[in-house]
Amino acid sequence: MAITSFDAAAFRRCFPACGDDPVYLDSAATALKPQVMIEATRHYYQDGGATVHRSQHHAARRLTQRYEQARAQVAELLHAGDEASVIWTKGATEAINLVAQSFLRPVLQAGDEILVSEAEHHANLIPWLMVAQQCQASVVKLPLNERGVPDINKLPALLTPKTRLLALGQMSNVTGACPDLRAALNIAHANGTPVMVDGAQGIVHQPPDVARLDIDFYAFSAHKLFGPTGLGVLYAHPRWFSAMSPWQGGGKMLTQASFSGFTPQPIPHMFEAGTPNIAGVVGFSAVLEWMKEIDWPAAESHCVALADEAENALRQREGFISYRAANSPVLAFNFAGIHHSDLITLLAEQGIALRAGQHCAQPLMQALGITGCLRASFAPYNNGEDIKRLLSALDYALTLLSD
Ligand code: PMP
Repeated sequence: MAITSFDAAAFRRCFPACGDDPVYLDSAATALKPQVMIEATRHYYQDGGATVHRSQHHAARRLTQRYEQARAQVAELLHAGDEASVIWTKGATEAINLVAQSFLRPVLQAGDEILVSEAEHHANLIPWLMVAQQCQASVVKLPLNERGVPDINKLPALLTPKTRLLALGQMSNVTGACPDLRAALNIAHANGTPVMVDGAQGIVHQPPDVARLDIDFYAFSAHKLFGPTGLGVLYAHPRWFSAMSPWQGGGKMLTQASFSGFTPQPIPHMFEAGTPNIAGVVGFSAVLEWMKEIDWPAAESHCVALADEAENALRQREGFISYRAANSPVLAFNFAGIHHSDLITLLAEQGIALRAGQHCAQPLMQALGITGCLRASFAPYNNGEDIKRLLSALDYALTLLSD
């Protein structure tokens, strides 16, 4: 047996929502929250009001410091050398839209191309379709290989002098497949093409070293990483700072304003117009501190082992079809002849929380030749009992549906 310092039972106890009901297997949609996050957020609201980067009173100054310290914590998590590279957003979706509108739109010309993998969540497809339409450019598909992973071998042929950006997910939210990011970045950079990496799923399982990989842009949402909703991050490599211009105007994103114009603040504040999600940042900061106590590689092995166990058990059931990539903590599946919507309804009725449908990835569904599927996603707070409950609920549902 592998020696690990990961204590699954102790980890589970950090999450007050982890009870008997429901069996929560929907962490790829959003993760449950640890008590430390709930406490930090409660303190923020309870201990008196203050905003950041504005008022001069003590609480405001203290919070401003905390807000900026949290930025440094994220920089440390991502191995980003420069804290200014960490821009607070309201989620991965907003972070990707920011790159589309502030970085790409000013330079995108008619006839230019944006290369996007077929496995992407809509958050890493629609912003590119929108900016392409705004500039009469086009979005080109990077197809999947026979294993269902974006085909990096096809990159050299698809990258052209007109390719202005490559958009690629670190990990699929459906299959859990992870393309070879390093290879993709090297090939794209050799063509002079910057890369937007959607880390919304990937960061939970392996935070990247953005400096070592030389990532241009990286987006993630705090809520999938045990943090609050309404908060996310865009990492932007400093080499692109001078090519980025403000995309939302408002308070505190400028140094000077008059009726004849304004001067934007430097990055990151240029992109943080208006009062930010301070409570969210405070809560997320507590999560990032708590995360340091966890052996994450071991926690990840625990998730993959659970997904293996569930998949092996499901394979014993007739008609089981798996879309799961090797070593994925996410298990997407169907049963032949049974509609995913029927199955999910019966599972929900039995207190099993997972998700069925197209998972905001319609092109991927088309590539897989399906209209939708079920998805059980495993987090370190899940355990063998959760799998037993899933299997027993599933067996009951399959009996009803096969009648
Ligand atoms: N990309 C992927 C792969 C995702 O799974 C998600 C969330 N489902 C997103 C992007 C968008 O994240 P958010 O909705 O938190 O902005």
